[in-house]
Amino acid sequence: NDQTELLRRKLEIYVKGKLVPDPILSFSSCNLPLQLLQNLAAAGYDMPTPVQMQAIPTALGGKSLLASANTGSGKTASYLVSIVSRCADFRLQHSSEYRKPLAMVLTPTRELCIQVEDQAKLLGKGLPFKTALVVGGDAMAGQLYRIQQGVELIVGTPGRLIDLLIKHDIGLDELMIFVLDEVDCMLQRGFRDQVMQIFRALSQPQVLMYSATITQEIEKMGSSIAKDMVIVSIGEPNK
Ligand code: ADP
Ligand code: MG
Repeated sequence: NDQTELLRRKLEIYVKGKLVPDPILSFSSCNLPLQLLQNLAAAGYDMPTPVQMQAIPTALGGKSLLASANTGSGKTASYLVSIVSRCADFRLQHSSEYRKPLAMVLTPTRELCIQVEDQAKLLGKGLPFKTALVVGGDAMAGQLYRIQQGVELIVGTPGRLIDLLIKHDIGLDELMIFVLDEVDCMLQRGFRDQVMQIFRALSQPQVLMYSATITQEIEKMGSSIAKDMVIVSIGEPNK
């Protein structure tokens, strides 16, 4: 409707795709677990940033998306909020003895993975939400053990994840959300085949892709791994 269009124009939110939900104006407007709302407030996140306004309701609705927004605009929380919320809801509805991973975030570097995991822990505090880091530089045995103890989210680099997957069955059949953060950088570093190899070990997860710019190559990769991808760009698209 007109009001949504005006709001998007004002915030420079550009969207492409079918059945894209309206942007949210506050975190409390999309039925998140109360504990998550408290964690967001404790982190000082009073208002969602533009990419969060559009990406959170889109991802919560189960749609795959490809998003671009400037550095420092809150892209991490724009996928972690829906991950924490959906994982916590899932655990409350399905009690099972062994908790298989429900979400995975791939980033190009160990340092980025550490930052993402730190933010995930902050947002998941007090909820059934555990994380595992799968990156080089630490022993794989410890990483494997942690996953086997039951986690909701795995954050890792493609290389180390492949090493782990080749040697061990970590039960990825319940994984519902697959995030590729800094896709442009991952492609530049030549991680494409490894990312695709990991994707093929999953059973049709929702895909959330983030990139500084949306190139044709990235759009093509997106449509090859997800149906009806919504594209969200903040600021002038492809400038
Ligand atoms: P990027 O878009 O580059 O991935 P980040 O997700 O790393 O950006 O976020 C940049 C900074 O903004 C982080 O320090 C994060 O804690 C903070 N931040 C994210 N969302 C909000 C928000 N809604 N309100 C206030 N600060 C936020
Ligand atoms: Mg980022």
